[in-house]
Amino acid sequence: MFKKILIANRGEIALRIMRACRELGVQSVAIHSTADTSSQHVKYADESVCVGRTSSAESYLRVPNIIAAAEITGADAIHPGYGFLAENPEFAEICAENGFTWIGPPAEVIRQMGDKATARTMAVAAEVPVVPGTGLVASVEDAVKAAAEFGYPVIIKATAGGGGKGMRVAWDEDELMKNYVAARTEAGASFGNDAVYIEKYLVNPRHVEVQLLGDGSGNVLYFGERDCSIQRRHQKLIEEAPSPAVDADLRRRMGEAAVRLAKRVGYTSAGTVEFLLDEDGSFYFMEMNTRIQVEHPVTEMVTGYDLMKWMIRVAAGEDFTFTQDDVVVRGHAIECRINAENPERDFMPCPGRVFYYHAPGGPGIRVDTHVYSDYMVPPHYDSLLAKIIAYGEDREEAVARMRRALTECVFEGLPTSTPFHLEVLENPVFLAGKATTRFLDEELPQLQEGLRVRAKSEEG
Ligand code: ADP
Repeated sequence: MFKKILIANRGEIALRIMRACRELGVQSVAIHSTADTSSQHVKYADESVCVGRTSSAESYLRVPNIIAAAEITGADAIHPGYGFLAENPEFAEICAENGFTWIGPPAEVIRQMGDKATARTMAVAAEVPVVPGTGLVASVEDAVKAAAEFGYPVIIKATAGGGGKGMRVAWDEDELMKNYVAARTEAGASFGNDAVYIEKYLVNPRHVEVQLLGDGSGNVLYFGERDCSIQRRHQKLIEEAPSPAVDADLRRRMGEAAVRLAKRVGYTSAGTVEFLLDEDGSFYFMEMNTRIQVEHPVTEMVTGYDLMKWMIRVAAGEDFTFTQDDVVVRGHAIECRINAENPERDFMPCPGRVFYYHAPGGPGIRVDTHVYSDYMVPPHYDSLLAKIIAYGEDREEAVARMRRALTECVFEGLPTSTPFHLEVLENPVFLAGKATTRFLDEELPQLQEGLRVRAKSEEG
């Protein structure tokens, strides 16, 4: 096992990694920007190093400073968390070149899967179903020809895209011609790579993803699925495990497909294969995320395995002490991402001071957060305040516990997305387990009306 791990991240995920370190008897090193001096992850770590100024580019993304911090502190491994440098293959290589173990998949795999068009090709080679689509399209004429072949609507995707950016839907040829140009321009500006491809757009799918973990001996296991269909602008808001739409047979088929792809590319570490699940029960590969994900706790709750510790263990050369048959999904877990934002004002981010914080508790509740009373949420990074995870024997109990936890939770001083979550947890479509990725678009008027009523009754 490692002696000391540098965590190249901040916020709740840095804390999550440090907690795993502490349980494993490993020392942790925090890095931070000048804006994060009094952040919880800095206080919690055994050591900390300031790596630069407030902007991410000058701190959490500043590779030479992070490597220097690892050298000064004598760390033997680097954990990137999610976001920032987690899916940057050059950073993974630089860590290794400087003698630090990279706690993640091989750099080459990150590179391949980071390019969505290449990932699609790899999925096809592994006999994993993909949505009808193209390779990279060189011209608008090729795009129109391809779309005519598999029919409208289609989605134009930047091969370098991520985080919900670089995608445009087209419902007919005119829109395709317009959006093709717009998508390329946007992709070029956002990712420095304007290559795009085209996929058939499924109108009412669910987002269902499979959690994987691979050790260094070629074993890859799947840990069931998560349903992340509740999204706003392709960004996840609520996740749950298991998916209300997946039974044991489908779980096994999706899990085995994900493992086939992972084995084919030589995957190690934690990773997620994202699928679209269509109304007729067919599933299609969408992309692979080569990192630990925000929503990993719901999987930990229903399987009982500590994914973060295993991610560290396999990086340290340990093999699994259990087999696929040991991984059983039991009960139900839901996660709500609480952001510092105003759901009544189009979810506008609202950083500021949390004068008082009170954590929910009681049976089945887990809170992953870096917030404490009198904490100043800096405006420079993402607006995630906390992840509240509720576990229950079944979905109904998980929902009831989540509602209770959300009403116990206090973030005084700034608006949060909590009221929005409470609205979703009362929505009949959600409660029936029928939400697809269209949920938010379709239910927004009712949800907003609910928010207005809620705000009024709080005023009164
Ligand atoms: P990103 O890497 O930016 O997260 P993804 O490829 O994972 O992008 O897609 C994000 C979301 O976009 C999905 O969860 C889904 O809601 C929607 N989406 C992507 N591809 C399709 C498609 N072919 N049909 C319908 N929806 C899609």
